Amino acid sequence: MTTLNLVLMGLPGAGKGTQAQKIVAEFHTVHISTGDIFRAAMKNGTKMGIEAKKFIDQGNLVPDSVTDGIVEDRLAEDDTNAGFMLDGYPRNLEQANALDKMTAKLNKPINAVINIHVDPEVLIERLSGRFICKNCGATYHKLYNPPKVEGTCDVCGHHEFYQRDDDKPETVKNRIEVNTKLNTPLIDFYNDKKLLYTVNGDQDIDDVYKEIQKVLRAI
Ligand code: ADP
Ligand code: AMP
Repeated sequence: MTTLNLVLMGLPGAGKGTQAQKIVAEFHTVHISTGDIFRAAMKNGTKMGIEAKKFIDQGNLVPDSVTDGIVEDRLAEDDTNAGFMLDGYPRNLEQANALDKMTAKLNKPINAVINIHVDPEVLIERLSGRFICKNCGATYHKLYNPPKVEGTCDVCGHHEFYQRDDDKPETVKNRIEVNTKLNTPLIDFYNDKKLLYTVNGDQDIDDVYKEIQKVLRAI
């Protein structure tokens, strides 16, 4: 089987984290979410986390000089030799070009970019209803994807959840705007390379996953 070196693309709230959980469970690829890496650094109060927080709290992108280095270090680790899935990176053309260089240097070429398409109007409701398990990071939605047993994480059984600070309505609007502007050139970039597979993210979570499965099984 071909090694799966994937990029998962989509606007904030499109369902990247939700689908990544399913992809990892089936295809055992290493999940690399730049957002998760930043949140862990903020929680631990590292220098990088303190710096990143200034941008994240405003809904802006963390500078490429910081983000590219984090991804390059992570991709150089041996556990990615058997495949990886980037979630939330690249987010602009400069990052896409940086990723091209890294993957060429490491000889780990990207073989598919899955773009989860959802109209921006849908995203505000998705993000405002999102909550996350404090223990394992599993993502839920109060209406569309609640835990099977109320108050208990399906994945790890813990009972504490939190809402992301940047899911507040003031921040969400800017995040969607910033990312919408940057998204089109990225889509063109990967389309030109014949790597892009767009799936409809505005359907039930399991139906989105079925489309993704079809793409991944064909690689
Ligand atoms: P992203 O990682 O792209 O920001 P998430 O996977 O965290 O997005 O999903 C954002 C919110 O929308 C979460 O609360 C999640 O439970 C919910 N969600 C994800 N996919 C769908 C879907 N297909 N339909 C309805 N809600 C969804
Ligand atoms: P996410 O969890 O993907 O929604 O990311 C949360 C926040 O982390 C984003 O709003 C950005 O501020 C920051 N971030 C995540 N990935 C990147 C990236 N590739 N480039 C710049 N900033 C990022």
